[in-house]
Amino acid sequence: MDFQLTAEQQAFVKSVRSFAAEKLNVDNVERDQDAVFLRELWTECARFGVQGLPIPEEYGGQGADVLTTVLAMEALGEGCRDGGLLFSLNAHLWSAALPLVEFGTTEQKERYLPGMCDGSLIAVHAITEPGSGSDAMALATTARLDGDAYVLDGGKQFITNAPVADVFIVFATVDPGLGWAGITAFFVPRDTPGLTVGSSDAKMGLRTSPTGELSFQDCRIPKHSVLGVPGAGMMIFEYAMRLERACIMASSVGTMQRQLDESVAHANSRQQFGQPIGDFQAVSHMLADMQVRLTASRLLAYRGGWLADQGALEPLEASAIKLYLSEAYLQSSLDTVQVHGGYGIMAEAGIERYVRDAVVGRIYSGTNQMQRNIIAQHLRATT
Ligand SMILES: Cc1cc2nc3c(=O)[nH]c(=O)nc-3n(C[C@H](O)[C@H](O)[C@H](O)COP(=O)(O)OP(=O)(O)OC[C@H]3O[C@@H](n4cnc5c(N)ncnc54)[C@H](O)[C@@H]3O)c2cc1C
Repeated sequence: MDFQLTAEQQAFVKSVRSFAAEKLNVDNVERDQDAVFLRELWTECARFGVQGLPIPEEYGGQGADVLTTVLAMEALGEGCRDGGLLFSLNAHLWSAALPLVEFGTTEQKERYLPGMCDGSLIAVHAITEPGSGSDAMALATTARLDGDAYVLDGGKQFITNAPVADVFIVFATVDPGLGWAGITAFFVPRDTPGLTVGSSDAKMGLRTSPTGELSFQDCRIPKHSVLGVPGAGMMIFEYAMRLERACIMASSVGTMQRQLDESVAHANSRQQFGQPIGDFQAVSHMLADMQVRLTASRLLAYRGGWLADQGALEPLEASAIKLYLSEAYLQSSLDTVQVHGGYGIMAEAGIERYVRDAVVGRIYSGTNQMQRNIIAQHLRATT
């Protein structure tokens, strides 16, 4: 067991952090207030190699392992203050691009992956519906086979990147009578007749990551648009969620490092009662707790990447990582505001945003209640 990053990894992390700090902090406060996603920043990330990092070289990527991608996400989270952009990148990578690498046909990979690496295609993973959130397998969107096409009917909501996306991985049932065994994943390009993409929903946090609805009405897609095989939707969903839950919070680890650095600096410089506020135990203990949470989160994030690379990432581990990191991120975001006092609440400082962005972490990729359910189910099944 070696907890030390190699010199090469350290240099890589440094270069990603510098890139993020120099190129990705554009009008953060204003864009958060106005909920603006900048495609130019997406393209900038692609040019640097973010979207292609874990994608095989033959499809335009760099063939990096999951741990290296986790390190990159952490570094992006430290350098870039735009939590929405980071979330959009994470959703594209973990729940769309890598499932395509794992389950797609050569033709599907050749068609979509190069664009997903070079920034010209944004992809989404769409399973949630108005009637099925935590109970994702209760989805009602249908896919009826008609000659050489499937016809999709139904609707999706809360879909990350949908308003700006180019290709959608959509989960629908080919036979509602089969329950989860009928669920199938399909590629639907944005310009497909019968697909309507909603505008971006206003929301509390991650405002620069567009979220929206999809509606399918007599939406015909060729039979070969199935990802994997008919009926494999649940397996693909589980694969995507395992990876996403283990890795999606890695950028928050970087953000927690920045929060800690900012909080320590403020605790040292801000004077009250004739002394730095960090001299008060109540303040310094918040810093200590932030440090402990950060270290634990970092170790868990690296372990998630490492397990994925070993082919040993189990649902229990993935859920535990998502659960712990999202709660740690929220608590450290609250502590950052508290250490900064009234200044922490002012939008201009960019600190209150941490809390709004972090709250959402308890909900996406399965709520934290559902993560506890999964952990408990696996514990009970193995005793
Ligand atoms: C910012 C954001 C981005 C998202 N991106 C995507 C995306 O890209 N693609 C996609 O398909 N979906 C996406 N989602 C949807 C997300 O996965 C769901 O919001 C989430 O799974 C919860 O579903 P729900 O909102 O319908 O809540 P509900 O399922 O209605 O849950 C409401 C409450 O009940 C609790 N609850 C429900 N069932 C149980 C249970 N069995 N045990 C204990 N508690 C329970 C929940 O924990 C929660 O507290 C996104 C959501 C958000 C907020």
